[in-house]
Amino acid sequence: MTHQAKLVFWGVRGSTPTPERDTWRYGGNTPCLELTAPDGTQFILDCGTGLRTLGNRWTEQANGRGIRAHVLVTHYHWDHIQGIPFFHPFFESQNQFHFYSFQSKYLGPDSLRKVLEAQLASPYFPVDVSMMTARRDFREVTGGDKWEIGGTHITAAWLNHPQGCLGYRLDTSGGSVVYATDNEPGPAEFDLNLRQLAHGADVLIYDAQYSPEQLASERKGWGHSSWLEGVKIARDAKVRNLILFHHDPDSSDRVVDGFLSAARQEFPATWAAAEGMGIHLSNRGVTVSMRETRLGQRRRLRFNAVVSGHLDDGTPFQEKAMVRDLSLQGAYLCLKNRPRLQSEMRVVIEAAGDPSRSSMLSLRATVVHFDAGREKTQNGVGVVFIEDPEPGRQVD
Ligand SMILES: [Zn+2]
Ligand SMILES: [Zn+2]
Repeated sequence: MTHQAKLVFWGVRGSTPTPERDTWRYGGNTPCLELTAPDGTQFILDCGTGLRTLGNRWTEQANGRGIRAHVLVTHYHWDHIQGIPFFHPFFESQNQFHFYSFQSKYLGPDSLRKVLEAQLASPYFPVDVSMMTARRDFREVTGGDKWEIGGTHITAAWLNHPQGCLGYRLDTSGGSVVYATDNEPGPAEFDLNLRQLAHGADVLIYDAQYSPEQLASERKGWGHSSWLEGVKIARDAKVRNLILFHHDPDSSDRVVDGFLSAARQEFPATWAAAEGMGIHLSNRGVTVSMRETRLGQRRRLRFNAVVSGHLDDGTPFQEKAMVRDLSLQGAYLCLKNRPRLQSEMRVVIEAAGDPSRSSMLSLRATVVHFDAGREKTQNGVGVVFIEDPEPGRQVD
């Protein structure tokens, strides 16, 4: 029998959510991960804004049945708790949650319970914690603790972060995951802690918020790390896969792409955490998958193309290929007319390069922009294409 664990990233952004356009590809929600152990036990790692969408998914799947999960919180900074008030399963009495976190010296005993109550206190939230009717229990853990939940062995270790932060290791029968975010390298004790926690892990999720240059200069003391430190730890601890995590809110997708490619030069089995990314762990190894990212509707085509790229092991390749569909987000057109903003248009484009069939691309669009145009007699019109339901639309 194959024991398979599944990890899903619901939030990967550090510090604060980023709904901007240039961060959408990796995602703008703050930290939240879902781990399903091979026996079906459900874990949540951190409660950033990604928790909301996880809650919606679970509510839909449960369809009224009770949800039970173990929630491991690394620390109490906003970005790791701010999804709590928006997780619908907390407000349903048939559900049950077991929370784990440490006793903060600023909050005293029952720290995490106090955090929940404070988040839903007046005047910060419209309803109080009594509306959270799911059964909840809280367990305080500390660095060095080990415990077991349904066959998964958990270890906690202190990381180097302002006001404290725990890293967690979860050893399942499908493989091992180490979640070590919000950590600044430097102090020998913590550096050793982390290497011991991560030793031989199948997957290490690590804080890679800054560039190595930022970490050495203006961001020193902020409690975070870089892809280069991640690579060093992955090597020292003989980790199999490194996941760069907790992307800086000011890092665009292109910046994260750059960190990933630099890290892969040093440690090829590196990935950059992205919202919706899934990792399957089993005795056959680790496989990584991405969620569907092409948001625009697709149009089927047959265009010839020459494609060049790199294989898994870095070998370059080039081949002739056929483009079978394109996703189209929008267009800029020159028109004599001036269409109304936010009105619908039909755009039919002649697609060259396909002599074998009628090559008209007929697209429904909404007008989003208007300007005087590049030529005197014409108007510049920006459109975004909108869904035009089509029977048998292919989705991969
Ligand atoms: Zn954080
Ligand atoms: Zn933090």
